[in-house]
Amino acid sequence: MTAGSAVEFAVPEALGGGAGPTAPAVDGIVYLDHHATTPCDPRVVEAMLPCFQGVFANPASPHAAGRRADELVQRARQQVADLLACEPSEIVFTSGASEANNLAIKGAAEADPQQRRHLITAVTEHKAVLDVMARLEGRGYEVTYLPVQADGRLSLERLRRALRPDTLMLSLMLANNEIGVLHPIPEIAALCRRRGVLMHCDAAQALAHVDCRIATLDVDLLSISAHKAYGPKGIGALYVRRRPRVRLTPRIEGGGQERGRRSGTLNVPGIVGFGAACALVAEQGPRDAIHCADLRDLLLQRLRQGVPDLRVHGSLEHRLPNNLNVSFPGVDGQQLLRHLPHLAVSSGAACSSPSHDGSYVLKALAAPPEAVDGALRCGVGRFSTHREIELASDQILAAVAHCRRHPAPAAAACGAPC
Ligand SMILES: *Cc1c(COP(=O)(O)O)cnc(C)c1O
Repeated sequence: MTAGSAVEFAVPEALGGGAGPTAPAVDGIVYLDHHATTPCDPRVVEAMLPCFQGVFANPASPHAAGRRADELVQRARQQVADLLACEPSEIVFTSGASEANNLAIKGAAEADPQQRRHLITAVTEHKAVLDVMARLEGRGYEVTYLPVQADGRLSLERLRRALRPDTLMLSLMLANNEIGVLHPIPEIAALCRRRGVLMHCDAAQALAHVDCRIATLDVDLLSISAHKAYGPKGIGALYVRRRPRVRLTPRIEGGGQERGRRSGTLNVPGIVGFGAACALVAEQGPRDAIHCADLRDLLLQRLRQGVPDLRVHGSLEHRLPNNLNVSFPGVDGQQLLRHLPHLAVSSGAACSSPSHDGSYVLKALAAPPEAVDGALRCGVGRFSTHREIELASDQILAAVAHCRRHPAPAAAACGAPC
């Protein structure tokens, strides 16, 4: 189930297998929640240490100590830019992809010289896009939320019909955080360019696994986050195209850092860690992708052996190599999770949400309600092992068998002991 999409890494067949130094581990737990966050690679931690051991000055300070910190920032900015194949001056460091999304969408809307008032996005976007769009609607902007096809991908034809003369921007993610589905971003960006519409892409989930070079994607704005790519939390970036220049108003004003686009003293340790994480992805991303796809395919194969009628949500062909999102007919996701105490996975359904109304992403695929409630999202990573997949699939199959023998009453499923 590898790859037809233009955005996926071209992978030399000779590569493959796991990678890297000793895996960061959580005692007694198999960690399969890499879409929520990834562990910090020990080599990233190593790269960050000087920032806590002497190179602590403010990189904006003109003295020698400040210059030393600034050198580390410049090097890291180059590492991030190298992974995206863009100019270092096109990188704006932020606190993460949420802030980058806010800056891209609100910033471009406020700064548009033509004052266009229409934006387009998809119903399956991350909340850090959808809630920004809702905010703009409250300020008089008009937003079109495009539906997706049954496989989770956007239809170019629907997009074409949604474009208007006053459309300012399309915001569309590269890879979905629940179902891992990849949109055909290069084709979509080309369409936007022809129509004079800005293209923003949230690539938080994609950065570690998919080709995110700007020349490939051809987007104007790209949001990324370190902690989804084996870097530290609290640091990310927005790529902002310089030619032709994309204008943005800042979200945070003050000292004028990041060319006035994002004030605030730079998070030097975070930035250095982000740079190191990007350098590692540049070096071993293709190998990680093969490793993850092998383990993901093994997990699916083992689960299917035990539960032949399991349902896979979203396209298997156009998908992150590390994502699996499945449901088991007749099994409630929350009940299933309670029987998986040694597994870090998540349910498609947000049990904590007051309305218990389940994943809006799975609903957008027109999945039946019981599948929406029963979904399990598994995300493998760089440090996942064959043995962990065996353990995980054994545990999931045992839990599914238990839940099928003792089904939870549907209404009381959440929080009910069983
Ligand atoms: C994790 C994630 C975000 C938020 O990133 P932060 O760096 O945690 O703010 C945004 N979009 C997608 C698709 C994500 O997966």
